Amino acid sequence: KLEAAPPGSKPIRTRLGPDKIPEPSKALNDRVALLRGDITTLAVDAIVNAANRSLLGGGGVDGAIHRAAGPELYQECKGLGGCPTGQAKITNAYELPCKKVIHAVGPVYDPIHHDRSEASLVSCYIESLKLAVKNSCRTIAFSGISTGVYGYPSRDAAPAALSAVRHFLTGHDGSKIDKVVFVTFERKDVDAYDEAIPLYFPPV
Ligand code: ADP
Repeated sequence: KLEAAPPGSKPIRTRLGPDKIPEPSKALNDRVALLRGDITTLAVDAIVNAANRSLLGGGGVDGAIHRAAGPELYQECKGLGGCPTGQAKITNAYELPCKKVIHAVGPVYDPIHHDRSEASLVSCYIESLKLAVKNSCRTIAFSGISTGVYGYPSRDAAPAALSAVRHFLTGHDGSKIDKVVFVTFERKDVDAYDEAIPLYFPPV
């Protein structure tokens, strides 16, 4: 569901200036969706976990994914040897309804080095999409990487995520992805996406 921000809503900080709002495209808008709910219930090709560098599970969405996937996910993750920040690794999904789990390691938000945090966050989205393509996953659902315990402000994270996904979908391998679902859980993230989506995927 893609709708324009309500009139009078506050401007948000984005990587594209107000003069750089991209050309509206129905075909492109149809390939992204916003959903509020539990990512573990989605029967997409791949879900993206907001993992930590150990890849051995944790709280938040990571814990929910490991609980729903069952102990075999932990066993597979143990063999991966962790993952650096800004990168991603892929596993099977076991008891989950999706086919694969992509474990992306977002940055712990550092307001002093905002640009570095943003580069890592953008990299998580791009690397996850590349892994999806490599593994023939055409539908992918992202959790809000870094916007929980890692403290990335939702109003900055949503534009970075949307900008990265738009960049990928319009790029070389973009046609190999049919649908990107942004999964939000908390109100703050719903609001951030509601505001930012019309800037990156303007209504036609
Ligand atoms: P991080 O450590 O990267 O910040 P968290 O798991 O703490 O990861 O939070 C990432 C995001 O996942 C948060 O926006 C949180 O609201 C959301 N979240 C938590 N549980 C779920 C779930 N079951 N499905 C989808 N999103 C979830």
